[in-house]
Amino acid sequence: MEDRIWLLPCEGRFYKANLHCHTVLSDGKRTPEEIKGMYKRHGYSVVAYTDHRRYRWHENLMDDTFIPIAAYEVNIDGETPASGDISRRKTYHINLYDENPRLFQEEKQASILPEHRYTDIGYINEYLKKMRSMGFFACYNHPYWSMQTIEDYKGLDQVWAMEIYNHGCELDGMYGYNPQSYDEMLRAGKRLFCVAADDNHNPVPTDDPFSDSFGGFTMIKARELTYPAVIEALLKGDFYASMGPEIKELFVERGRLVVRTSPVEKIFVATESRYCHRAIAGPGEVLTEAVFELTGKEGYVRVDARDRRGLHANSNAYFL
Ligand SMILES: [Zn+2]
Ligand SMILES: [Zn+2]
Repeated sequence: MEDRIWLLPCEGRFYKANLHCHTVLSDGKRTPEEIKGMYKRHGYSVVAYTDHRRYRWHENLMDDTFIPIAAYEVNIDGETPASGDISRRKTYHINLYDENPRLFQEEKQASILPEHRYTDIGYINEYLKKMRSMGFFACYNHPYWSMQTIEDYKGLDQVWAMEIYNHGCELDGMYGYNPQSYDEMLRAGKRLFCVAADDNHNPVPTDDPFSDSFGGFTMIKARELTYPAVIEALLKGDFYASMGPEIKELFVERGRLVVRTSPVEKIFVATESRYCHRAIAGPGEVLTEAVFELTGKEGYVRVDARDRRGLHANSNAYFL
């Protein structure tokens, strides 16, 4: 199969990850240990601990079956409205994931925070650049919850990925699913990946309909379950985002894009233009594969597979 180009690698295996999580170290209700237990019971192998403004590496939780990614979530708040109502204030929320927690340990323990220079995009990019030089790669979080539009975030140029789905925001009523924002960033010329995550704070038990755990996850295809292998896969974009459905295989062969999934109702491919590739199941039927003839005019392709429950799996965008 020499002429097959794997968009998701064929080697390795998928590991389920929650890349956005709060604990009692900030405003979450569960301890880091409890989070590990609950997520492992639900089939997860990776959790990024992204407590607000507090960098931590929970190295003690790492073993052959579980990788805790060292991380934190920083915020850069806009001006408080004249009403004083901070729930209407714009803000950037950015997760910083640590490539190698063994480096710069002392500096990182101090949790280097950005200043609230909201309108100073040059400063924000400088901050992210400095953090990148220490090993942190950045994910731009929940645009809609943050009261932001493309005008606010299109200037970010040090972001590795953005959240296409944030489960906590969805349960807040703040539309956690933002595929339009992702396309807008791509069409603005940004090359970035997309992830889905819980942003769980666990105010209620996991069997409560308002539980914010296990609704958005990222499937990482890595050669093994070790900290460096998981990071390598993340940096390369070897993953997809999901609320439920699986993308099992994704490749291009002889000018055709082939997508294999768990049973879904539709498999669409968004592109840089308004023309999409589309496959849809007949009444009572399901799809597990779609093959699309590429035109060469797509710019980028990104797969969106939706199941009968209305849940989506989203691939990264691939510039062909
Ligand atoms: Zn946030
Ligand atoms: Zn958060």
